[in-house]
Amino acid sequence: MQRFEMVINGESCPSASGEWFDTENPFTAQTWAQIPRGNGTDVDRAVQAAHAAFSTGPWSQMSPSQRGLLLHRVGDLIARDAQKLAALEVRDNGKLMAEMLGQCQYLPQWYYYFGGLADKVQGTVIPLDKKGYFNFTRNEPLGVVAAITPWNSPLLLATWKIAPALAAGCTIVIKPSEFTSASTIEFAKLFAEAGFPPGVINVVTGFGADVGSPLVEHPLVKKITFTGADSTGRKINEAAARQFKHVSLELGGKSPNIVFDDADLDDAVNGAVSGIFAATGQTCIAGSRLLLQESIYETFVDKLLTLARTAKMGDPSSMDTQVGPVTTRPQYQKVLSYIETAKQEGASLLLGGKPGSAPECGNGWFIEPTIFGDVNNKMRIAQEEVFGPILSIIKFKDEDEAVALANDVRFGLGSGVWTKDIGRSIRVAEKLQAGMVWVNSYRAVSYMSPFGGYKDSGLGRENGIDAIREYLQTKSVWINTGVKTANPFVMR
Ligand code: NAD
Repeated sequence: MQRFEMVINGESCPSASGEWFDTENPFTAQTWAQIPRGNGTDVDRAVQAAHAAFSTGPWSQMSPSQRGLLLHRVGDLIARDAQKLAALEVRDNGKLMAEMLGQCQYLPQWYYYFGGLADKVQGTVIPLDKKGYFNFTRNEPLGVVAAITPWNSPLLLATWKIAPALAAGCTIVIKPSEFTSASTIEFAKLFAEAGFPPGVINVVTGFGADVGSPLVEHPLVKKITFTGADSTGRKINEAAARQFKHVSLELGGKSPNIVFDDADLDDAVNGAVSGIFAATGQTCIAGSRLLLQESIYETFVDKLLTLARTAKMGDPSSMDTQVGPVTTRPQYQKVLSYIETAKQEGASLLLGGKPGSAPECGNGWFIEPTIFGDVNNKMRIAQEEVFGPILSIIKFKDEDEAVALANDVRFGLGSGVWTKDIGRSIRVAEKLQAGMVWVNSYRAVSYMSPFGGYKDSGLGRENGIDAIREYLQTKSVWINTGVKTANPFVMR
């Protein structure tokens, strides 16, 4: 049995309590490793280390260009180890090797991009309306950042936080999901190898209540960046508000994938399948509501079922597997219960609806790609995030109805529009209440392009130039160039 230790102040260590918990492989449903079960003591050690690194350590003395160089170096090390990191991710979260390898090979770009940005954070000289003053701004790092991540794409989602936070000059304490901690621990070691000073990046492991909560509450943590469920995000936001902490939240979604009758239907079928069955539906941007124009409903559903039936379930480490297991045991139960809910609500089961029973599925937590037709947008299956391979198909008449249905959920993360009419694509993109709109595409992301949610899908943006601002605060410096102080009882 492998054991992975926390990373605090540049050193590997067990938890203060000496307790461990098991982590399971979703394909075999067997425990494969043990992770330290942290608590508030570990959190305090990690935050103190991050605080010391930020305020007095060598990191605090480095120029932005030196920080950028370190970020470049770690990017190179991630590229070197991409295969190894991807294998670890697959073992721990059950996602496809094809997907995780692609992600791990892409990660270095975040470090090159934000490394390049580190020394381009500039203040401004303000041409003041008041004579006798020189006024300029500085953009300063916020301090210690707490990064709390979910289980679906541990290293990608951690990277979206680590790269801009370190580029800004902050230090970081990461709390990975209790279901998938191993990869983040191994990842953090690469930063020491790249030459990051101790305390700049720390990893504390354990459960939300034992580790996540004290981390959010710690007075030396100045910023919380969280990806996970909206219910957890709400609790974190409330706790952070009590100490006026900065917060970014990337929460869930119930994203519409809208197909108009003028679309290239074969492309749109591919987009619908990739929107919901890629990553076994366990992505926050899953296109879990397929909105179909009524004139193409039957034709489209036929084509969709034909393609979805070919999806190959099995060992996620095989490059030709298309649908892997669900990552966690509780999530597996949750997805199955939503299938029952949809049936009770009157949705028509068109495909799947059962645990995967093919021999290739072994004992893994597999669920067949599942499609429900005749879904009404008011049903729970259309309103609540399932986070599994379950697609709801909803019919619409025209553009106005499509937009109204698309927006009639409390979430607003992703959205897809399939049409050959450029005017329509722009009209609809403008009206959709979502942080990302993909036209004739779905589920594309880049380090260069902002990512985040409207409505209950979150606060703040990751990726793109402005992401670094999430880790900075502005100071305005006023210098009197020689004006004599006047009446002290009046504002200048
Ligand atoms: P989760 O909210 O249960 O857990 C996320 C993290 O929060 C874990 O590390 C967990 O231990 C921690 N946590 C739990 N309670 C906490 C508390 N009280 N205080 C502090 N930390 C706490 O989410 P999950 O089940 O791991 O992930 C699935 C969810 O993540 C889905 O809702 C999905 O949509 C969302 N997600 C969003 C994005 C995005 O970018 N918008 C990306 C991926 C996943």
